[in-house]
This record gives sequence, C-alpha cells and structure tokens, in this order.
Amino acid sequence: MATKAPITQDMLTIPRKLPEGGPTNIVGLTREQLREALIATGTPEKQAKMRAGQIWQWVYQKGVRDFDVMTNLAKDYRAKLASEFVIAVPEVVSRQVSADGTRKYLVRIAGGHEVEVVYIPEEGRGTLCISSQVGCTLTCSFCHTGTQKLVRNLTAGEIIGQVMLARDDLGEWPEPGRNPHDETRLLSNIVLMGMGEPLYNFENVRDAMKIAMDPEGISLSRRRITLSTSGVVPEIARTAEEIGCLLAVSFHATTDEVRDTLVPINKRWNIAELLDALKAYPKLSNSERITFEYVMLKDVNDSDEDARRLVNLIRGIPAKINLIPFNEWPGAPYKRSDQKRIRAFADIIYKAGYASPIRTPRGEDIMAACGQLKSATERARKSRKAIEAEAGL
Ligand code: SAH
Ligand code: SF4
Repeated sequence: MATKAPITQDMLTIPRKLPEGGPTNIVGLTREQLREALIATGTPEKQAKMRAGQIWQWVYQKGVRDFDVMTNLAKDYRAKLASEFVIAVPEVVSRQVSADGTRKYLVRIAGGHEVEVVYIPEEGRGTLCISSQVGCTLTCSFCHTGTQKLVRNLTAGEIIGQVMLARDDLGEWPEPGRNPHDETRLLSNIVLMGMGEPLYNFENVRDAMKIAMDPEGISLSRRRITLSTSGVVPEIARTAEEIGCLLAVSFHATTDEVRDTLVPINKRWNIAELLDALKAYPKLSNSERITFEYVMLKDVNDSDEDARRLVNLIRGIPAKINLIPFNEWPGAPYKRSDQKRIRAFADIIYKAGYASPIRTPRGEDIMAACGQLKSATERARKSRKAIEAEAGL
C-alpha cells in the first residue's frame, strides 16, 4: 500500500483563524459575523452590511473563491479583503462514483480529520447527505459511525463547505445573472444524515443551514433540508424555532426496552418524552410532517406487532415512515430483515394511513449508505488493530 504523504498545516483548510492573527475564513460566517469582521478590518460601518451581502453572493451563489473576481468591489478594496480573509472549503481527498451514480467524497478538515459526504442523484433532483461531527458521542448499536469516538464538532464553515465542494464537483455554480430554481438543481436537497448527531452541534449546524436557506446564500428552501436526530429532546423545539427545516427522527423501535439497546439516548429521553417533543414540532416550525426513520433489523424490531405498535404510538402526528433496510457493515451485530418481512411491515403502516416508503439502498458498492459512513483513517486504524490482534501482538 502506498504511504500517505504527511499532512502539513498548509494543506489543511482551517475554519476561522489561520495561525493566530492570520486571515479569517469567510465561509461559514453568518451575515452578522461577516459584517462585524469587515468593520474590524476597516470597512466603514455604513457600508458593511451591503458589502457583506455582495461578498455572500459571490461566494455562495457564484462559487467564487478569489476576491479579485468580485468586480462590483473596488480594486483596492478587493486587495484589502485578500490580505485579511480567505474563502476556503474542506479539501476533497478522494471521490468514488457508484455504478448507480451515487458519489462519495472523503473530505479532510482542519486537524487532518476526515468525514464523508454522499451525493445521491435522483430523477429531476439530487440529495446531498452531509456530516455534522467527526464520529459521534452516541453509540447506537446498529450504526457504524457509532463505533467511532467523537473527535470533534464540525464548524459552520466545514458544514456548509460540504455543500460547496459538492457543487464544485457537480459543476453547478450558476452563470452570472441566472437564479437557479430548486427544481432544476442537481443538488436540490440537503439531509443531515451523515456522520454525527446534528443536535449535539446545534449552533454550527444552525448557522450553516441559515446560509443554505438564505436567498443571498445557497438559497435552498427550508423544505428541502432535513435534519435527522436520534432524539435529543431538549433541542427539538429549538430546531423548529431557530432553523425551521424538516425533521427526521431515528425511531427504530416501538418499546423502550428495545429502543434502549438500539438508540441508547432513549435511556435519557424515552419514547413518551420524544413523542411529546415531536407532536409540537410541525406547528412550531410550520412544516407538514415528520419523517420517522425505522431501520429494519431481522428478528429485532420487524414483527407485525411492532408495526401495529408503531402506528399507535405516532397517531396524531403528521408523519411519513421511512423504512431503511439495514445496511450491514463488517462485524455488525444485526442482519437486514428479509424483503418479504419489510413489505409486510410496510403494508400494515400503509393500511393505517401513513406513507411507508422502503428506502432503496444506494451506492452499496462504495459503502455510501446511511450508517456506514466512517472516516478512512479510523477504518485503517481499526483494521491495523484487528491485524495486530490476529497476530497476537
Ligand atoms: N445522528 C443522526 C443522523 C445521522 S444517522 C441520527 O441518528 O438520526 C442517519 C440515519 O441513518 C439515522 O436514521 C440512523 O439511524 C440511520 N442508520 C445508521 N446506521 C445505519 C445502518 N447501518 N443501516 C441503516 N440505517 C442506519
Ligand atoms: Fe450517532 Fe446517529 Fe449513528 Fe446513533 S445513528 S451513533 S446518533 S450517527
């Protein structure tokens, strides 16, 4: 195997301040933070709001990374910006394309950590699955990410940077003067379903999604952004109020006993508490319905009785139930339910009046599916450990 070149500081994209006192990264700053940063570096206060808006349009609508291209700003002002700021997104280390068109990017962030980002093309649209943390503090027993310790939270710049680097790769920055419509975009939807628990990195996720939704930012409708949580109950109302995107919840079980083992955060906030928070969400966020994610694990949570309990539990909540055939990973303690079982389960839910789509596994040949995302460095470390264990070292 080829040895990797050592990672040096200048290869990394550092979120805010490069070495202390160095340039600030514009990507990920809220409008207000950018306005303040412009004032702090000499932009007259009266102009700062307008300048921030102009810079945002170049960065998020046109994909520009070079201040010199910003022709509606005076030449000396552009030079001044270039000396104080950078426009940087995380670096793509590798990119794999599946037979079905799914693209998986391995992305390196400051500190040499890596996260995965997945682009799933669909008929007339495309969804980007982004990560919010390196690893995860939670330890859901069926999730590959859960076997990896939390390394750190991603910054807002690293979160929205994933959208920008996917756009770079898709070649999807609109021509000047053209406003893209969500309907015709290659990257039309965002799901926070990659690595990490987004509600344990609330502020950075919120700031990044605000940039995604801002008409002068990435400009996606809030109905095209879905945040998936394992059930961090106290942050659910806050998500409705401060982000307002669609919500998905990793439900996965119909009794506390089983959910305690699959999604251990259930021991902190149980099914009843979670359902209370979910009931309030649609009204608070003015959104239509909540997606209940339900991973189908053979002989664990996939009986007819489970299906009936599930519809009873969610009664009264506008909902769609997304059945996810378990994505097996090496060493996983579960098996995927049989297709026949999944269909029978879906049928009970459907007959009770809920949409119950079965998620088609995508990008399986490149391990790009939900719950399989894990950094390559971590995998390498694990396999080295396994090799050492086998060799009795
Ligand atoms: N931490 C958040 C978001 C990331 S996980 C959460 O738990 O909701 C995104 C989705 O993938 C969750 O519904 C999660 O339960 C599911 N998932 C994790 N591992 C999986 C696996 N191996 N097979 C199928 N779905 C999985
Ligand atoms: Fe973390 Fe979500 Fe995986 Fe659970 S399912 S370990 S919350 S990433």
